[in-house]
This record gives sequence, C-alpha cells and structure tokens, in this order.
Amino acid sequence: IKGIIMIENINLCPYVTLEWIIIETGLFIKNTFVESVDKKRFETINPSTGKVITNVAEASSKDVDLAVEAATEAFYNVWRFVDGKERGRLLNKLADLIERDLEELAALESFDNGQTLSTAKFIDVGKFAYTRHEPIGVCAAIIPWNFPILMQSWKMAPALACGNTIILKPSELTPLGALKIAALCKEAGFPEGVVNVLNGPGPITGAAIAMHMKIDKLSFTGSNATGRSLLKAASESNLKQVSLELGGKSPNIIFADSNLDQAIKWAHMGIFFNHGQCCTAGSRVYVQDSVYDEFLTKFKAFTESNKIGDPFEEDTYQGPQISQTQFDRIMRYIECGKEEGATLLTGGERHGDQGYFIKPTIFTDVNEKMTIMQEEIFGPVVAISKFSTVEEVIEKAHLTKFGLAAAVFTNDLTKAIKLSNELRAGTVWVNCYNLVNSRLPFGGYKESGTGRDLSKYALDQYTQIKTVQINLESHT
Ligand code: NAD
Repeated sequence: IKGIIMIENINLCPYVTLEWIIIETGLFIKNTFVESVDKKRFETINPSTGKVITNVAEASSKDVDLAVEAATEAFYNVWRFVDGKERGRLLNKLADLIERDLEELAALESFDNGQTLSTAKFIDVGKFAYTRHEPIGVCAAIIPWNFPILMQSWKMAPALACGNTIILKPSELTPLGALKIAALCKEAGFPEGVVNVLNGPGPITGAAIAMHMKIDKLSFTGSNATGRSLLKAASESNLKQVSLELGGKSPNIIFADSNLDQAIKWAHMGIFFNHGQCCTAGSRVYVQDSVYDEFLTKFKAFTESNKIGDPFEEDTYQGPQISQTQFDRIMRYIECGKEEGATLLTGGERHGDQGYFIKPTIFTDVNEKMTIMQEEIFGPVVAISKFSTVEEVIEKAHLTKFGLAAAVFTNDLTKAIKLSNELRAGTVWVNCYNLVNSRLPFGGYKESGTGRDLSKYALDQYTQIKTVQINLESHT
C-alpha cells in the first residue's frame, strides 16, 4: 500500500454512516497507485477544520512523462480499437460503482472541498431546455497568398452565413482579389460594416488584428510560425477564439497493386499542382519497392513533359512561384537536399531568365532525417523513397510534426481502409489527390492546425452555443 487515508471523524458529517473511508494516495498510472518519481508529497486540508487530512503524492514533469507514455500507448494500441459498445459497458459499470459508493464519494468531497453533503450528492435536474446557435460577433480572417480568393470564400461564407461580421486581411503579396470581392459584396447589397477588407503587412496589420480586444474570433490559414504568434496574441489580449489551418508534409503512398499509370498522374498533380504551393502537397512519395524503378522512370518523364511558363497560356501546367523571397527559399531547400546527400533526379534550377520559375524537382535516396523530408518547402520539389511493408510505410509516414493530408494508391480495399484509418491526417485520399469539396471538412491533425474549414463543420467554427433552461413549475 503506497498511502492510505483513514478518516475516522464521522461526526463532521452526520449523514455519513460509514466509519472508515479508505483510499490510496499515490499517483494513478497504468491502473496502479505509485509514489512519484521524486517521492514528493503535499498536504490536503479540510476547510471545515483547517487541519491536514492527509498527504498525497505530487507529480513532477517526470511523472507527467510516465503518464503521457501510458496514455499514448493505451490510445494507439488499445482503447481506440475497443468498440463503442464495450466502451459504453465500462462507462455504465463505472456509473453503477459510483452509485454504489455514493455516500463515500460525497463524504470525500465534503472533507476535501467543504461542499455540503447534499451538494456533493446533487443529481441532474430536468427542466424545459433548449440550445441556441448564435453568431460569435466580429470575426477576422488572415489568409495566405497561394489561393487568395478561394481562401477568402472559405472564411467569409460561413462567417456571414452564421450572422457574424468579418474583417479580412489578405496576404500582402496578393491584395487584389479580395478588393474585387469587397466591391461585389457592396453591389450585392450587404449592409455597411458587414464585410471589411484590410490590406497590409502581416506583422503590422495582421498583428493589430490578432491583438485587438474587440475581435471575437480569428480564423487563420498560413504558416506554423505565424499560427503560433496568433495563439500567443489571443492569449495576451481577449482570448479570442482561434482556428488554424497550417502547413503540411503529406505522405503519398503507392502500392504495387495500384494502377501505376493513374498513380503517377495523381502523384504528379499531388505535388506539382499550383507549382507546389499547396498546403496539402504530397511532397513525400513512398513507392513499394517492386514497382519503384518503373514508377521513377515514368514519373520523371511525365514531370519533364509538362510545360512551364506564362500562366495565361492554356497548355501551361506550371507558372511562377509567388515572389523572389519564396524563389530563394525553395532554391535553398534544393541546395540543402543536395548537401544532405539526396540524389537530384531532375530539375533543381531556375527555368527561363525572368520571373520566379523553378523547374519541377525530384529527389531520390532520401531518408526521414533530411530537412527536405521534414520541412514544408511550398514549391515544386518532391522527395521519393521506397518501402516494402504496410507497417514500415505507416511508421515512416508519421515521422513528421504535420498531419494535414495523406494519400494511398492500391486496388486492395481492405488495405485502403486500414491505411485510411491508421494515417494521422485531416484528409486521406485513396487513388486520387488534392480533391477538395466544399461539402467536406478540411483541416489538420497534429501541428497542421485546429478546427475545420468547409462543410457543416465550418459552421461550428463561427457559432457559439447558448443553453437556456426554463422552470415551468414556477418555484419547484
Ligand atoms: P504566412 O504565415 O507568412 O502568411 C499568411 C498570412 O499571415 C498573410 O496574410 C500574412 O500577412 C499574415 N501574417 C504574417 N505574419 C503575421 C503576424 N506576425 N501576425 C499576423 N499576421 C501575419 O504564410 P504564407 O507564407 O503567406 O503562406 C504559406 C503558408 O501557408 C504555408 O506554410 C502553407 O502550408 C500554409 N497554408 C496552409 C493552408 C491550410 O489550409 N492548411 C492553406 C494554404 C497555405
């Protein structure tokens, strides 16, 4: 026994009929009561007497690590596989045990917290009740440059539909589309003040929005670094609600039993669509070893056959990167890939002699430790590697901090569903890539963000829920 509290003084609680309450006072990890790693304990006081009841184990960061390890292990390997019926059975069993020991539990609350015994035994009371989904108020949206008008619509439409007003800050690199949409809002007849557009630099205009005390909600799409700064600003101002759509480093997994020509077409679109400037870009392509060589030969040929150039020409597949800064950033990543030992199969250099065009770039001989396998490049650069088993590729796919999207190419339905369930990503595509539908939610797992754009789930991001309870019995 690691620690026992024995409370004898039943006179404190006249309704308690028990003579002893016995509980263990260690930390509870993996269904076991244990001392803390540092063996520290702290006292708990009875507020009715001001006297110590007992002492309990005190957790340090080392114990937090142990508990997180236990919870992680139980989450990934056990609990999520236990079906809902069994989870329900266990919760009901726990409820029965709580009812069985109600007197003891209520007494503990009274000793420890000073709660009256009747409050401690308080049970839900049913009244006439309803909930209202109300707008949050003044919403702001800060959006990036890669799909300017599309991003505006993703934020503005649900915000307005739910009855909020909006302040939109486009990227300073793409200020024009939002101004045209603003003019259309006026022409459509929206009352003044409902839609507002503020262009300006992120650290000035964006930061002022994030810190503002009268903005109730902020929806952001952009880089992880800016996302973090917005969360900090919200915590330092009025705790405005923040939803984040951030970056990705999405794995695209191609099995030997897929239709390889189709997989090549989609994998190409997965990374090179919009010149690689897609948060969902399939920048890590994993190909099963038996078809790896064939994939590489055909993928390289397909990639090199696509036309780079004037975005106004109909047969152009790839236009310029957004800016000199972005061009330089991508070229630095390409240099970094070479320095870290990856093989440059094609591309890796400027296309033409003006503008910010970069030839589609393919790296092979990569591993998960390389910078180009970990960081979002946001350009036409793909890293291709091989795998042999399902377990191996799932493990590799998860070796980044991101979880925005993933894709699987296979004609085996069981395998497709197994991987769709296993992959920790907000979207999983099977035998396709980069398809987005406004009726389906879009957002990230892990460090790719919080909240969802699009679909009915986006409406949750722009509403708050009020509970109203009405006593129809006058005073009872
Ligand atoms: P960014 O974070 O630099 O800029 C995005 C927006 O934030 C711009 O409007 C910018 O002006 C503003 N901003 C910058 N610094 C700010 C600050 N300190 N305070 C307030 N606002 C600030 O990102 P970017 O380079 O324009 O966009 C590319 C990034 O966006 C990529 O990392 C990409 O993955 C991500 N992205 C994500 C999604 C998604 O849905 N998950 C979609 C598109 C782009």
